[in-house]
Amino acid sequence: MEIILAKTAGFCFGVKRATSMAFQEAESGNPDTYTLGSIIHNPQVVEKLASAGVAVKKDVEEIGHGTVIIRSHGVTLQEMERAKDKGLRVVDATCPFVKKAQDLAALLKDQGYFVVIVGDEEHPEVKSIISYGGKDIVVVNSCDKLRTLPKKKKIGVVAQTTQSFDNLKAIVNECLGKAGELRIFNTICGATAIRQDQSRDIAEKVDCMIVVGGYSSANTKRLAEICKEIQPNTHHIEVADELDRAWFKGVKRVGVTAGASTPDWVTDEVVERIKSYEVK
Ligand code: SF4
Repeated sequence: MEIILAKTAGFCFGVKRATSMAFQEAESGNPDTYTLGSIIHNPQVVEKLASAGVAVKKDVEEIGHGTVIIRSHGVTLQEMERAKDKGLRVVDATCPFVKKAQDLAALLKDQGYFVVIVGDEEHPEVKSIISYGGKDIVVVNSCDKLRTLPKKKKIGVVAQTTQSFDNLKAIVNECLGKAGELRIFNTICGATAIRQDQSRDIAEKVDCMIVVGGYSSANTKRLAEICKEIQPNTHHIEVADELDRAWFKGVKRVGVTAGASTPDWVTDEVVERIKSYEVK
């Protein structure tokens, strides 16, 4: 069985940066260091960090003093202000690409645009972008919600960094009929698009596709959806123990890809486990 591993599998720039900032803080030995929410959407990394002394807190109010590390997909403007008001030391590990989407939402708001965010409104990154975009705002992940939107003078569009380019294009197309003036910022992260293209290419060549990454990781879930559309024998797993030998029956080529928040050691274990199926 041939295994094709995506070259782009593993940490992206923003996740690498955030995790290394968090582990640096852990090494400093300060006992009162916390992340606000999980630093990245990967339970294995969160556990490692907890053993190194950096605990997860869900809310700024749970932190009395010390250092708070802001995760790669950012926090809301209000959370950031509350942390500063409480006198906490803030280590901002927000990915610069997410920061850019937040800043552009604020710019659109300041310039009087009705802001359309293309994304999943429950995702923390989108919640953070919303907080910068003011009150004239809507979050959509398909064209349906836009169809009932009344016409606006000016619409400005930004996207969750993990959105697919095709979805952004479809929504922008719908916005064209809704506004006299339309301003679009393509805030989709390049790392996401490259990962998606490469996974798509691999899924076309294999009989089974394994997507490795946290179940709460938006970009991993998206990779799994893309691959499943091409190769129905696609499986999203978090760790090697979830692999099922039955998936590989009659399979000549298997593809492995991983989300941007999946550590290499987790993907390596998956590859090694698949290799072991051949020997037995
Ligand atoms: S996928 Fe892109 S936007 Fe998201 S953390 Fe990684 S580099 Fe940043």
